Amino acid sequence: MDKDIQDRFSTYLEENRVKERRKTEVRFTILKEICDFPKHFDLEMLQDKLDAAKYRVSRATLYNTLNVLIDAGIIVRHQFDAGIIAHYPHQKPIPIQYELRKKAETHYHFVCTRCRGIREVKNMPHIQAPGSNFTAEYASLCLYGLCNRCRNRIQREAQKNINQSQTNKSKK
Ligand SMILES: [Zn+2]
Ligand SMILES: [Zn+2]
Repeated sequence: MDKDIQDRFSTYLEENRVKERRKTEVRFTILKEICDFPKHFDLEMLQDKLDAAKYRVSRATLYNTLNVLIDAGIIVRHQFDAGIIAHYPHQKPIPIQYELRKKAETHYHFVCTRCRGIREVKNMPHIQAPGSNFTAEYASLCLYGLCNRCRNRIQREAQKNINQSQTNKSKK
């Protein structure tokens, strides 16, 4: 685990007077597992990881710790389907995902509206607030569209339909 992430969490717990040792230990264990995820994770994935490492952590503690980590500015919560549900109300929801804020700041998210795959794109131009009346603390930007696979599939299907209607016409 990164030393600065660890320090940041310690400071936060001290400032908020979390003195109970057992509680603190469990939270650091959870944070350590979180730091090992290469990408986003949801509650289910985190629970599985802790189970595999033989750490018994209740759902309530897990959920509570995630919220504490958000408050501490260590992780961010992503609701990737927010922009999908608005336009495609019948699509299945994507579970709430989390990731280290430090990681989230390095990329934007491209979300496919069909397969709901999420791609992280780095080295995007940095968006700056115009003027001096706003200071950005972090970015959580999602672009919604089609991944190549879905776009090719949709094009193939459209082509198939055209071909089919042409054969039907020539049969007549
Ligand atoms: Zn991400
Ligand atoms: Zn897709």
